Amino acid sequence: MIENSIVYRDFKGKYEYLPLSKSAGAEIWDKNGKRYIDFTSGWNVTNLGWNNKEITDALIAQANKNVQGLLWGSDPIQEEYAAAIIAALPKGLDACAKATGGTEAIEMSIKIARAYTDRKKIIGFDGLYHGQLFASLALGAPGHAREKLTPLVPEITPIAFPHEDIGEEGFEKFATEFEALLANKDVAAVVTEPGIITGWGSTLLAYPGFLTKVRELTAKYGTLLIVDEVGTGFSRTGKLFAIEHEGVTPDMIVFAKGISNGAAAIGTVVGRSEIFEPAFTDAVLISTFGWTPVACAAALKTLQIHQRDKTWEMAEKKGTYITEKLSQYIGDKLVSIRGKGMEIGLRCKDAETAGKIQKAAFADGLHIVVGSANNIQLMPPITISQKLLDEGLAILAKYLK
Ligand code: PMP
Repeated sequence: MIENSIVYRDFKGKYEYLPLSKSAGAEIWDKNGKRYIDFTSGWNVTNLGWNNKEITDALIAQANKNVQGLLWGSDPIQEEYAAAIIAALPKGLDACAKATGGTEAIEMSIKIARAYTDRKKIIGFDGLYHGQLFASLALGAPGHAREKLTPLVPEITPIAFPHEDIGEEGFEKFATEFEALLANKDVAAVVTEPGIITGWGSTLLAYPGFLTKVRELTAKYGTLLIVDEVGTGFSRTGKLFAIEHEGVTPDMIVFAKGISNGAAAIGTVVGRSEIFEPAFTDAVLISTFGWTPVACAAALKTLQIHQRDKTWEMAEKKGTYITEKLSQYIGDKLVSIRGKGMEIGLRCKDAETAGKIQKAAFADGLHIVVGSANNIQLMPPITISQKLLDEGLAILAKYLK
């Protein structure tokens, strides 16, 4: 019985709990048949709408051919997906590691970095989410998420994230301190989201030029740059991949979530094959269910739809629309709006206000999440119709006033 499960008891009362029974496009239904407009996409997963039929059909077609891959071998759909994701990325990123999700892929990327550089130190940023295993938590999870779980993994240290309000002088100070950390040439890798925090829900933006500066300095000292695009990837921020905003090519890029639009579990690290090479012998990168053929079929179709429909353009346009529409409510309850594309944060006066707005919207049929204390994080399916978008925004507006 779900009612007796630990997860259920943990969430009940603390958050609005939605026992999902059906979903389609930008709508979801609970077990009593109540319908909600969804402004979460399952947290940046169903970017192309819940239960996208084209993706499901591709998955079923593959299931009728072959469902499982080999540890030492491949299925044609795995080869096809690897070629497609590599072609979508900047030149030089030409090798993929097969994972089942974001956390696993992040952990793999750290192993690859240590194996390649023969260095131990890894730098992350405070407050960024990279997953729930020990190395991914060590990268920067907030105190409350880690204190009972320590010791985490040694030599993985988070530093302060230079957010957009830091100012020019603050950013210069960040760059100087960051360079000093790298100057000993003993840091294997820096792990970061590409200029916007999506994971813990803060939707904080980095100071402009952040990723470019991090790229420049990591390259100077032989430190690898690992960019986590688990939340930002697949059109969410107004580009197919958020590294495109500053035209930065990392050494490794990590995807999950929107990669298969929620149709199957899959994650990946894509990087330079030269970097991956030592890991094949020095770090075992095996994942039995990583890149199953059915997951690859779903991921391939997902990528093809983004490219065919230029979904990122919809994210850019609708993101601007949402921000403009909601700006008029900035006042007592809503303090500011920030974000990129359709990854939008509504910073409320305090956590209590954010919680009240979420509760009221929920009762009224709008599914939204409070990502972090006082921040409501909007991530609607990018393909949401104008009608449903307006309907959802009208509900939200009632409680922002
Ligand atoms: N990185 C980011 C930015 C994420 O948002 C998440 C998931 N919230 C992860 C990594 C971990 O991915 P997963 O839940 O698939 O392990």
